[in-house]
Amino acid sequence: MIACLGRIVHSTDADCIPEADVSTISQSLDLQGSIESGGIMGVAGKDFGGLYSVKPVALIKPSGTEDIARVVKAASRTSHLTVAARGNGHSINGQAMADGGLVIDMRSTEENHFKLLTIDGSPYIDVSGGALWEDVLKRCVSMFRLAPRSWTDYLSLTVGGTLSNAGVSGQAFRYGPQTSNVTELEVVTGKGEITVCSETQNSELFFGALGGLGQFGIITRARVKLQPAPDMVRWIRLVYSEFEEFTRDAEFLVTREEGESFDYVEGFVFSNSDDPINGWPSVPLDPDHVFNPVHIPQSAGSVLYCLEVALHYNHNDHPSTIETAVSRLLERLGFVRRLNFQVNVSYMEFLLRVKRVEEHAKANGIWDSPHPWLNIFVSKSSIVDFDRTVFKKMLKDGVGGPMLIYPLLRSKWDDRMSVVLPEGEIFYIVVLLRFVPKGPSVEKLVAQNQEIVEWCIKKGLEFKLYLPHYQSNEDWKRHFGKQWSRFVERKFSFDPMAILAPGQRIFKRTH
Ligand code: FAD
Repeated sequence: MIACLGRIVHSTDADCIPEADVSTISQSLDLQGSIESGGIMGVAGKDFGGLYSVKPVALIKPSGTEDIARVVKAASRTSHLTVAARGNGHSINGQAMADGGLVIDMRSTEENHFKLLTIDGSPYIDVSGGALWEDVLKRCVSMFRLAPRSWTDYLSLTVGGTLSNAGVSGQAFRYGPQTSNVTELEVVTGKGEITVCSETQNSELFFGALGGLGQFGIITRARVKLQPAPDMVRWIRLVYSEFEEFTRDAEFLVTREEGESFDYVEGFVFSNSDDPINGWPSVPLDPDHVFNPVHIPQSAGSVLYCLEVALHYNHNDHPSTIETAVSRLLERLGFVRRLNFQVNVSYMEFLLRVKRVEEHAKANGIWDSPHPWLNIFVSKSSIVDFDRTVFKKMLKDGVGGPMLIYPLLRSKWDDRMSVVLPEGEIFYIVVLLRFVPKGPSVEKLVAQNQEIVEWCIKKGLEFKLYLPHYQSNEDWKRHFGKQWSRFVERKFSFDPMAILAPGQRIFKRTH
């Protein structure tokens, strides 16, 4: 892996693209949009992870679904071309890339399809697979005072990109991942066919595409469930010194009925130190808040835990109603009483909170440097072991960014979808958001991720990688487990020549 990383990171001969291929394809396509071959590496050959770089043949900017279908059909008439839909390129390990293939810039279709619908009295929005979630939010709230129910923490991600994985954040315990909040998709399959699918129509393609890592089709339109958008959010962080108390409270909150819990539940681990990025100063929500370490219990270990929760409310709710609702919930929890931080922010400000982190990181030059991130789903049955070794020992000094951990409920995920989960009703998502300056340390951090995964395997922990990245067929088989044969059958039905999403490295292009 490390040798391979070194080779890929240092590839520089970006502009030697076989022009002949591009002009032949371009002529035969008759696109409404455009096709480019020069100077495309910056967009099509890189991603947010910054670990891989490959050379595509061309970047296509389609005007809509028809263009995308033509590109896929044209690729299918060649013996070797692959096609990668590129959402916003926020993958870590080259998943949206196509080495020697065609990259489709889905953002060029982002304005398409936007339409509000009411079905059986409930609101839905039709959006392009290339739309950014932040734009979906802004348009739905400003035009209709409605919003999708389930989010990711960061919203400069495309609808098709997150639906191809799952899309999780602190609302997923109640509504499931984003994949559980769409009722219809329009998809261009690997055969170049434009197909509308749902739970009742072409259902195998519908569930296949959800969490399908882009393997079965390119999502060009999604129908997303909406709910009334609240005006405001009470955003709260509560500190714990004991992992068992943190998980008990987090699980208590995610298993209560709507109306008897918070609207958002997440959490993170931080170093028990004054380190400005990894330690106590990373907890307060407002510059006026002070984290006074005097309140940390004597029994605390190398790391501490923070439960992050939020409650929605409206301008016309009486302040005492909010105070009462918050205090009732907080009095049941076992956090360190004096380490409790609260702010009121608008709903939009809350959902766009990571945009501020992005602005800050860009100013510090760490947004564009490599991000060897790791995302794992760990079963409740294995989470104490994981904490004891990974957080308390391996990562006790932090990772240069947040280390998220919060519980999710399997029953909110439809097991007909392609995404695979660890056993048990409650499992945790663990996310290591490493921010590192450029340099040799990146390889060490990739190796540390690998070490964590290998340790999980060796100790028999019940886990699955989220946003998985594997090199070998054996690893993919193990990842999918019992679902592998279903995944292969779906590939055979919808993309038999393995044209789509080659950057996932699951299947090889055939003739
Ligand atoms: P890309 O990286 O462009 O594509 C991802 C994969 O999907 C590729 O294989 C690509 O070919 C395929 N694809 C893209 N568009 C389509 C389409 N329309 N149809 C079919 N296949 C397609 N994830 C969470 O769940 N929760 C989070 O809170 C979260 N926060 C994040 C924060 C940051 C800062 C970053 C960088 C990532 C975060 N992610 C999170 C991960 C994110 O969901 C994935 O990386 C997602 O794939 C990125 O979306 P994208 O639009 O950039 O997709």
